[in-house]
Amino acid sequence: DADPTLRPEPLPEDNDRALRPQGLGEFIGQAEARANLRVFIESARRRGEAMDHTLFHGPPGLGKTTLAQIVARELGVNFRMTSGPVLAKAGDLAAILTNLEARDVLFIDEIHRLNPAVEEVLYPAMEDFELDLVIGEGPAARTVRIELQPFTLVGATTRMGLLTTPLRDRFGIPTRLQFYTIDELFEIVSRNARKLGAPADDAGAREIARRARGTPRIAGRLLRRVVDFAVVEGDGTITRELADGALTRLGVDQLGLDGADRRYLRLVAENYGGGPVGIETMSAALSESRDALEEVIEPYLLQQGLIQRTPRGRMLAQKAWTHLGIAPPKSQSD
Ligand code: ADP
Repeated sequence: DADPTLRPEPLPEDNDRALRPQGLGEFIGQAEARANLRVFIESARRRGEAMDHTLFHGPPGLGKTTLAQIVARELGVNFRMTSGPVLAKAGDLAAILTNLEARDVLFIDEIHRLNPAVEEVLYPAMEDFELDLVIGEGPAARTVRIELQPFTLVGATTRMGLLTTPLRDRFGIPTRLQFYTIDELFEIVSRNARKLGAPADDAGAREIARRARGTPRIAGRLLRRVVDFAVVEGDGTITRELADGALTRLGVDQLGLDGADRRYLRLVAENYGGGPVGIETMSAALSESRDALEEVIEPYLLQQGLIQRTPRGRMLAQKAWTHLGIAPPKSQSD
């Protein structure tokens, strides 16, 4: 029943550059990350050196790619982008590294999914800006050392726990991105509504912010849908009533949960008496990959206090029973 486009996978509309904040000053939220980055960027600029390697981790859609682009722009260097699963062979990464100019930013998304052979190449590159290439095969094979330009690697991952220790240790600046507050999302929605030419009144913008799962990417996506309703069924202005009607029709409930979230909660409630239930069981019952559950669905449910992770599996919290309007079984209620 969920509109699949509401899931926070990157879609072409995310490439809409008009809505992406361009500088650190325009970036709303993540105050701690922003304050730190400001110092590191300024220091690198004054010293004329590449900024330290940086790792952003946290759920999808919170601004990891956006921040990496902003870092490059503020440093005044090129931004190169790739991702862990795309780099199949060591040579793929070597080709990118040898083409970097001094102090460039190389962004590797989903860095926890790097092939080990590729990761090996990354270690000396990050540490000493060197590349060891094997030329030829068999007894004639020899290693050639290539000097690289100093560069900044910005890694992004939704799964910090899946990063190997040697890789994690090579990042000078690991930064965890947090879910956004409603006030922060309110600012993002208001600004973007103006940019899209469909002004939102405060109550309208707040309604979208409240139901955006703490995530700017989702706020952007919901806003675009609400704009459609405002244009076709309203007078082009986003009011609370219009936003509420549109979001409800899109299957986004009062907590901002969508169909996939509710399916998850209902499964634990109705089939497992509120849990505990193991993640593999959940994955099979919902036909969703374990990764999708752990990276996309669960972080927000945990943050909202709807579920708990226990050593024996996932359990519903009281708030989830209330939200679903189902009475918990006797052993659950206290
Ligand atoms: P991630 O790389 O963490 O998945 P992105 O950087 O691709 O997330 O951001 C997703 C979308 O949300 C983009 O369209 C981006 O413009 C928007 N966005 C992210 N953070 C902010 C922010 N702080 N202010 C405004 N828009 C943001």
